[in-house]
Amino acid sequence: MMQGEKLGLDSYRQVVGDRVVGELYRLADRLRGSSVQHVNSTRAGGGVAEILERLTPLTNELEIRAHWDVIEGEDEFWRVTKMFHNAIQGDEVDFTSADFDTYIKWNRLNSQKIDLFGDCVFIHDPQPAALIERRKPGTRQRFVWRCHIDASTPMPRAWRFLEQFVRRFDASIFSAPQFAQSQLRIPQFLIAPSIDPLSPKNRPLSADQVESVLERFHVDRRRPILLQVSRFDRFKDPIGVIRAYRMVKETNDCQLVLAGGSATDDPDGAAVLVEVQEEAVGDPDIHVLVLPPDAHFEINALQRGASIVLQKSLREGFGLTVSEALWKGKPVVGGATGGIPLQILDGVNGYLVYSPEGAAFRIRYLLNHPEVASEMGRRGVEMVRQNFLLTRNLREYLMVIHAAQEPRRGIIEL
Ligand code: UDP
Repeated sequence: MMQGEKLGLDSYRQVVGDRVVGELYRLADRLRGSSVQHVNSTRAGGGVAEILERLTPLTNELEIRAHWDVIEGEDEFWRVTKMFHNAIQGDEVDFTSADFDTYIKWNRLNSQKIDLFGDCVFIHDPQPAALIERRKPGTRQRFVWRCHIDASTPMPRAWRFLEQFVRRFDASIFSAPQFAQSQLRIPQFLIAPSIDPLSPKNRPLSADQVESVLERFHVDRRRPILLQVSRFDRFKDPIGVIRAYRMVKETNDCQLVLAGGSATDDPDGAAVLVEVQEEAVGDPDIHVLVLPPDAHFEINALQRGASIVLQKSLREGFGLTVSEALWKGKPVVGGATGGIPLQILDGVNGYLVYSPEGAAFRIRYLLNHPEVASEMGRRGVEMVRQNFLLTRNLREYLMVIHAAQEPRRGIIEL
């Protein structure tokens, strides 16, 4: 396959089998000709964009008209939406009433520009949630709020504000059971995100391709490589990763690659990057790589070149990077938070950790027992094949569209 070539649904038969793809066509039968619309806050950067980029064309292939819109904003809006992001993930954030006004103002501006025409409209995450104000009374349209972040212990004031919009949706989707909201009186679906096995980020690469990327970034392929791929975000704990690496380094030779970029809706990234660069100063074995949002091939190669992949998040919605790494046969050492424990079975395909010390302990063990690391890697591939590929995600979206026609109260696990 050429890089950038878009593969159709039938190409997935080689990865997941005919039954899975056939089921998608059957599920789509009754939805043919209807329209699905997704609205989120960034076209690139982060897991949501990553998924919508492929979910949209594949839905279209099923003859369901799929459309993806992105809201716009200026710094004042992204500052406030980042406050929401942090507060919904449990931080205590100092909101003023002007912050709430800014949020509503930008949602209203966007609702004048974006035509919410879909028969089923999926609004992703808190940023555009207030677009629901534009819902026309008596419409047959269905609106679903898809929350990708860790909403297990939201800051009460922030959740109360957001909930006034969320409860006007027909249904909601969360990524992990612990994010479900006991007080929310609309149906809640649980859907784990997914990776696309055929995308440039995840498709197979040759050893030469992997080596050329390591060489380009001056990473020595002959020595062990620890890797974390993440936006520069405090919840991803890049400083904790450096601390873990330093502890490992006392006994084991290794290098650390922290690869990340920024998302257009994330204003904190630059400040966190500076902190990381300062922390890494003076150690030539720490490679802090700032990558453009379309560096999928490079990330693929780094994940394949790594000995162990880390995702030491302190809070996490799902953590797509975990499945990406497992799919490449790598053991993953990840923070026991959000959707990470759905993907890492502790001691089976990686380890769940709670501190830099815990991460260092597990990394050292894996470096000293490469046969264990390889076996875990093999199990990880199967874990992802069974649970976290795009075809499963698409099937569950189709099921939600079906189910949203007849909303029922309660949590339904698909
Ligand atoms: N990613 C990327 N470039 C970066 C950092 C991350 O392409 O510099 C990708 C990464 O490979 C993954 C997604 O962005 O596909 C991150 O998703 P995840 O669920 O791990 O975290 P989020 O950023 O959504 O919190």
